[in-house]
Amino acid sequence: MPETTMMNRKGMVAKILSRIRTDSFHSNYTLLGKELGRGKFAVVKKCMENPSGKEYAAKFLRKRRKGQDCRMDIINEIAILEIAKSNSHVVDLHEVYETTSEIILVLEYAAGGEIFNQCVADKDEAFKEKDVIRLVRQILDGVSYLHGNNIVHLDLKPQNILLTSCNPLGNIRIVDFGLSRRVDNVEEIREIMGTPEYVAPEILNYEAITTATDMWSIGVLVYVMLTGISPFLGDDKQSTYLNISKVDIDYSEDIFEGISNLALDFIQSLLIKDPRKRAKAEQCLNHPWLSSKLEVPKSITESEEEQSESEQNSPDSEELVLMASY
Ligand code: ADP
Ligand code: MG
Repeated sequence: MPETTMMNRKGMVAKILSRIRTDSFHSNYTLLGKELGRGKFAVVKKCMENPSGKEYAAKFLRKRRKGQDCRMDIINEIAILEIAKSNSHVVDLHEVYETTSEIILVLEYAAGGEIFNQCVADKDEAFKEKDVIRLVRQILDGVSYLHGNNIVHLDLKPQNILLTSCNPLGNIRIVDFGLSRRVDNVEEIREIMGTPEYVAPEILNYEAITTATDMWSIGVLVYVMLTGISPFLGDDKQSTYLNISKVDIDYSEDIFEGISNLALDFIQSLLIKDPRKRAKAEQCLNHPWLSSKLEVPKSITESEEEQSESEQNSPDSEELVLMASY
């Protein structure tokens, strides 16, 4: 095997740089409060690092799943977090621990929780279009960084997009790289994965997965953030899949009341069946919707947040460019 990044047949990355600690997580961290979240094979808990007092989110991942050893899936998740480390909109990986049954990822704590909560909130608590513009720019900044490094996330949905704070509205942290893969020109992944409402038509047709697959999910995500409605959700999985493959979307005025035409145009540039015709992350960042001047809502700015963190980190030049543009 070459020393450079190794890949298995499914586009998983097998080489990590992090030191996997085998001493006791529980002697170095104190668990705080109740769970932050839970998936099929993972539970996420808030914790405090004992000497520093700093808060983190610990993701406990089971190595054995359905009787199979899934350690390499977790190594892939770690490897992708490492590749994305220099992007401020991807959650930061602090440390990794391993026990006989689990791997524990100690992640930056995103105190604002899932954007899902605001997506399903009543109108007065829901995102304003101006908020969505700012947050979507940050999501695209993270995703274009991933795509620039030939990484596809493959599970972009409101439960995997977190906020650094909720009130005032903070900044985006993309999490959950459990399904993420490395794509390149030769390798193709053909398997159904992801979450029914957010999967792209090519996944349903067992066609090749590319970075365009994530762009479809971003189209669904933006629709949900603006309207509170999941555009393809049917009564069951089958009808959801049928709605997706027919690209059956309601763009009617009553759903989009008070939302700009540019926002609509942005969504329509992504929810296109042919992945080759879908806008790419870089193109989306240049879409006029993201530079449209709507009334500025009261929200935390990237610079304010950086200031409060400034004892630990100083922003890098990429961050300064972003700060200037928000
Ligand atoms: P799964 O693969 O099980 O979906 P996730 O990484 O998505 O695992 O984590 C599950 C949930 O835990 C997330 O949807 C979110 O609510 C919460 N969570 C995950 N990471 C963090 C974090 N760094 N800070 C705060 N909450 C988190
Ligand atoms: Mg998740």
